[in-house]
Amino acid sequence: MALTGIQIYKLLPQTNCKDCGFPTCLAFAMKLAAKQVELSSCPHVSEEAQAQLAESAAPPIRLVTLKANGHEVKAGNETVMFRHEKTFYHKTGLFVRVRDDEGPDAIKARVAPADAYAVNYVGMDLTLDGFAVESASNDPAQFEAAIAAVRSASQRPIILISRDPAVMAAGLKALDGESPLIYGADAANWEAMAALAGQHSAPLAVIGATLDELADLTQKIQGAGVEDMVLHPVATTLGASLALNTQIRRLALKKNFRPLGYPLIAFAGNDPVGETIAATQAIAKYAGFVVLDHFAPETVYSLLVLRENIYTDPQKPIQVQPGVYEINNPKPEDPVMVTTNFSITYFSVANEIEGAGLPGWLLVTDAEGMSVLTAWAAGKFDAERIAKAVKQFSIADKVSKKRIVLPGHVAVLSGELEEELPDWEVRVGPREAVDLPAFMKQAL
Ligand code: SF4
Repeated sequence: MALTGIQIYKLLPQTNCKDCGFPTCLAFAMKLAAKQVELSSCPHVSEEAQAQLAESAAPPIRLVTLKANGHEVKAGNETVMFRHEKTFYHKTGLFVRVRDDEGPDAIKARVAPADAYAVNYVGMDLTLDGFAVESASNDPAQFEAAIAAVRSASQRPIILISRDPAVMAAGLKALDGESPLIYGADAANWEAMAALAGQHSAPLAVIGATLDELADLTQKIQGAGVEDMVLHPVATTLGASLALNTQIRRLALKKNFRPLGYPLIAFAGNDPVGETIAATQAIAKYAGFVVLDHFAPETVYSLLVLRENIYTDPQKPIQVQPGVYEINNPKPEDPVMVTTNFSITYFSVANEIEGAGLPGWLLVTDAEGMSVLTAWAAGKFDAERIAKAVKQFSIADKVSKKRIVLPGHVAVLSGELEEELPDWEVRVGPREAVDLPAFMKQAL
C-alpha cells in the first residue's frame, strides 16, 4: 500500500538538512509520494525506515532492460501520464520482426540494412533498437538458425517469440549471456516460461486480453520468482489498444497497482500503412517496446523523430555545444555569423549556409538552448553574451576581417554590440535563416 507524503515524512530524519536538494524533509516526502524522486537522494534514512519506505520508493512501473553485446534497451520507470507534467524517461524501443521460416539468407538480407540505418536529426544519430525473431516453424533448430542469421548481421538486443517452452529454450541457449525479452507467457505456458526466465535472468512478456488476466498472470509469475516483466495487452483495434494501454498506465501510476506496474509491448501489425499508424499510437501511448514487421527508411524515420520529440524533456531544450562552427571550410576573410545554441535554430542556420555552398564561421552562443527571439526576450542573448562568446572562442584569431552578422530579429542589439566590440564591424542579417545565402552573396 502506497504511503502518503505525511506518512513518509514521519519516517524521514526531519532535520531539514537539504542534502537531498529540497529545502525541507516534508518537501522531499511529498515528491517521494508522487514518485518524482528516488529515496536514495536522502543519504540519512535509517535502515529500518528504508525497509518501511521500500514500497513507496519502488518505481510504479518497473524498469526492464534488454541487453546484448554492449547494447541496452530500457523501458519503464515512468512517473507521469503526460509528457508536459514532467518528462518521459525511456524511449520506446523499436524492433523489426523476422520469422524463422524466411530462411537465413533472407533474414540476413532484411536485418543488415535495418541494423545499419542511422539518421542524423538535430545533431543526434537515431537508429532502430533491435530485432524480434519469431518461431513460425515451431522447430527449435530452425529457430536457432534464424537467431544465428540475425546475429551475423546485428549485435542489437533481441526479442524471442514463441509460446512453446522447448523452442524458447533453444532460442535462449543460442543467446547465452544476453538478456533478450522472452515472448511470451500466457495462461497455458506461464510456469514453464517463468522457469526459463529465471534460469536465463531474462525479462518475460506476459500476454493477456484483459486487465484481470494480465494482473492474475503477473502475480503468479512474480510468485515463481520472476520480477522483470513486460505486458502485452492484446487488442484487435487501435481504440481498444489505446484504452488498455491508458488504463494500465493509469492504474500503475495513480493507484500504484503493482500487478500492472510493468512496461508495455505492442505489435504494430502486418499492413505497411496501418503499421505506421499503430506504431505512432503505441509510441505516444505508452509502449516501452514496439515490434514492426517492415523496415522502410521513410516510415522508420518519422517514427524515430516522433519518438525523439515525445521523449525529450520539455523543460530542457535540445542544445548544441556553444563554440565556433566552420561551415564549408571557411577562410579568414569569410564572415562570422551569430546564433544561439537551440538545436533547431543552429541547424536551420547551418543547413542554409551549408546547402548554399557558402563558407562562413558560425558563432554559437550559450543561450540556455533557447531560440533567438525567446532568448533575447529572456535576457539570455544580448550584446554582452555575444561579446563574451567572441572572446571566449577566440574567433578574432581565425578571421582577417572583424565583421560579425547579427540575426535580423535582434537588430536592436547592434548598437550595444558595437560598444562591446569596438574593433568589429557589426552587420544586421536577415530575420529568417532561409534568406541568409542571398544576404551573404549580396551584402558581404
Ligand atoms: S536529505 Fe533527508 S534529512 Fe536532509 S532534508 Fe532531505 S529528506 Fe530531510
